[in-house]
Amino acid sequence: MRINFNVPPHTGRELEYIKECIAAEKICGDGAFTKKCNEWIEKRTGVYRALLTTSCTHATEMAALLLGIKEGDEVIMPSYTFVSTADAFVLRGATAVFVDIRPDTMNIDEKLIEEAITEKTRAIVPVHYAGVSCEMDTIMDIAKKHSLYVVEDAAQGIMASYKGRALGSIGDMGCFSFHETKNYSMGEGGALLLKDERYADMAEIVREKGTDRSRFYRGQVDKYTWQEAGSSYLPSDMNAAYLYAQLEIADDINNARLKIWNTYYKELKILADTERIELPVIPEGCVHNAHMFYIKTKDLSERTALKAYLASKDILAVSHYVPLHSSPAGKKYSRFAGEDRYTTGESDRLLRLPLYYGLSEDDNMYIIESVKEFYAKK
Ligand SMILES: *Cc1c(COP(=O)(O)O)cnc(C)c1O
Repeated sequence: MRINFNVPPHTGRELEYIKECIAAEKICGDGAFTKKCNEWIEKRTGVYRALLTTSCTHATEMAALLLGIKEGDEVIMPSYTFVSTADAFVLRGATAVFVDIRPDTMNIDEKLIEEAITEKTRAIVPVHYAGVSCEMDTIMDIAKKHSLYVVEDAAQGIMASYKGRALGSIGDMGCFSFHETKNYSMGEGGALLLKDERYADMAEIVREKGTDRSRFYRGQVDKYTWQEAGSSYLPSDMNAAYLYAQLEIADDINNARLKIWNTYYKELKILADTERIELPVIPEGCVHNAHMFYIKTKDLSERTALKAYLASKDILAVSHYVPLHSSPAGKKYSRFAGEDRYTTGESDRLLRLPLYYGLSEDDNMYIIESVKEFYAKK
């Protein structure tokens, strides 16, 4: 393909920083670059504590462990999401309870959450699809009323906000991803964000194989011991070094992505105005991060045809999630609460166009022209 769907971000300083790790003879977890990344996230989002992890999946697993999610519990989330959202809780023995999405943002429909709550419900996991926030005021109100935890799957939400608050900082906990397909990357990686101090000490322990090694490193105890059941959720400092090269120019990367997104939106608006396609909706109060640009076609067969047409033009455009409730594991570990009015139908129509840091203006326009050509020929 001439134009790939994604190219992992890098800025040119990654190697220099990795060399610094090697020279400092500190390549395991929680070295200087991990600390810089944690501090960057804390400063940018305002959370009490941010901890770099080996993935967003692992950050979510940590959240499930910290909240004591157990067999028989229910956790509410959309079916239109990545498997990790459900996996993290299902691993603890919980059932994923799916609620339908809103067709405008593809996010969980906050108006349907309350009907899905039972006496077994323990948490709500909103997924901020494409870096566009869920309706968090309503979700937080419901959680408060029913004494439920909120874990934000903000895998796609770094640098985006809801009514001035950073995504990942609104619920009890938030999870970021730094996978190579995300806006900022360390290959595989993520972060757990803790809004306040409640879980901070325990999170450090769970992340360090269940030990108080973090306290030991800070000189707060003279030896470290096994404190709790935990695992190894901290990444090598070399991965953090790779990430930090991007975080230090996060605004430049964000602006470059927004420019591409805005060009898509402006140039394709004519097709939306003439009701050939639908464009993403950004509700008031939401500031997005151009994680993704998608369009919605009339139906599945039109999407298949457009995807093939773009491929013939050497452009890789891709569909997205197969709703989890329709998957083999979904049938075992979940149930759909209420009606699937939009989840399957809307996901069938959605097509993501290439968007990455470094996509040229020429390529951006070439993709737009190719989409327009397809509809001109129809
Ligand atoms: C990417 C993604 C994840 C998983 O992130 P990893 O870092 O690969 O574990 C989870 N949820 C959503 C919504 C994602 O987009």
